[in-house]
Amino acid sequence: METALTGPETLVPTPRDPAQKFWDPELQTLDPEERRRRQDAALRRLVRRVFETPVPLFRRKLESAGVKHPEDVRGVDDLSRIPLVRKQDLRDSEAAAPPYGDYRFGDVRCCVRIGTSTGTTGTPTVTMWTRRDLAFEYESAARNFWRTGWCPGMLVTHAHPAYLYGGGMLLSGAYEYFGLVNLWVPPPDTDELAEQGIRAWMRFQPDIPFVGFSLGRYFEVSAKLKLDPMKDVGLRIPSLPGGKGIPLMTAGLECFACLGGSCGAPGAHLNEDRALVQAVDPETGREVPDGEWGDLVVTTLDRDGALLRYDLEEACSLTREPCACGETTIRGFWGGRFKDLLAAQGKRFQASEIEGALRTVEAVTKPSLEWVVVRPRAGEPGPLRVRVELAEGDRDAIAGRCAAAIAQRLGAEARVEIVERGSLPRSGYKTTRVVDA
Ligand SMILES: [Zn+2]
Repeated sequence: METALTGPETLVPTPRDPAQKFWDPELQTLDPEERRRRQDAALRRLVRRVFETPVPLFRRKLESAGVKHPEDVRGVDDLSRIPLVRKQDLRDSEAAAPPYGDYRFGDVRCCVRIGTSTGTTGTPTVTMWTRRDLAFEYESAARNFWRTGWCPGMLVTHAHPAYLYGGGMLLSGAYEYFGLVNLWVPPPDTDELAEQGIRAWMRFQPDIPFVGFSLGRYFEVSAKLKLDPMKDVGLRIPSLPGGKGIPLMTAGLECFACLGGSCGAPGAHLNEDRALVQAVDPETGREVPDGEWGDLVVTTLDRDGALLRYDLEEACSLTREPCACGETTIRGFWGGRFKDLLAAQGKRFQASEIEGALRTVEAVTKPSLEWVVVRPRAGEPGPLRVRVELAEGDRDAIAGRCAAAIAQRLGAEARVEIVERGSLPRSGYKTTRVVDA
């Protein structure tokens, strides 16, 4: 077991010329064949560490695929036969060998931080970061910020949760590493906490307005405070990406939080020198063709807290088409979590598609759109059951308009129940939109 701390003694980047196009020109514009050779070498190092450390969970996975020696994996082309590892594998491992499980490459005392997942999909799992792992995330984040056009000295803000959930701390660290001015407001779990954020933004006026899962909460609480969320607070409604969909930005806090970022072209450039990202058919373990949806499977490279063939149970698709910006990395799209994938009336769709339909009915979007859908049971016929809050207006007419919007967008019949404003649960981070009957 490694016992020494790894990573840089200080986390400070070398200054960049503001005129340079890329944060890390060498690695972001590397010849793809050379990048692949480096990935092959990093993968061989990872497999060697699995055997030599040893890391029992990954060693079992490798041996079940017939890998008896580190030399049996020569490179990326050998990955498809290695079984996938899912969140439940990590949970089972932590339950069997508490509290950290048998999938770690080092002792907790080599790390500088531990945290847990939010637990939205079951028992929270434990994430540990060495100083090197933090440097790895911060450097990746810096490329993403630079691509977006941010530069050191900008005042930015976020409302990520903190403490045991490590997300807020990681994002704050990445901002500060890059040289941004980090204005961290509390997640708007209550109206009082939301007001703290609103007052801070009015006072300090961030250069980049807040965007995040809880944006609707700030619109809602601004209205309660008789403030205009746009004119008085400075909030904006972000435009949604067109085409194939949402850029693939993250592989989760437990795997690789700052996986990629958008240059403005469709998708997100992926920090491929630090991770192998694959869109995988879970039946065969093989990659699906570019442009098709598969399971997001990530293998982190040269990270202390590594994961091998980690299946996030989310949909992604990849493109290897050259990008006009000049960066040579592949780009990825995110298709949502499988747990938010709904099946009804012979159709499959994401909860976010229902939200997109409801947004076209203006009456239910003021001051914020609040809704839930009851998860349809397999093979259960009948309309989708959707509940939507309404502040004021003709309930029957607006319920009809919502149902028509869902029918038009999804081709599925819905029964929309209008409920009182404030009657559905609120969350300061990710709101649950799919509920059980
Ligand atoms: Zn690009």
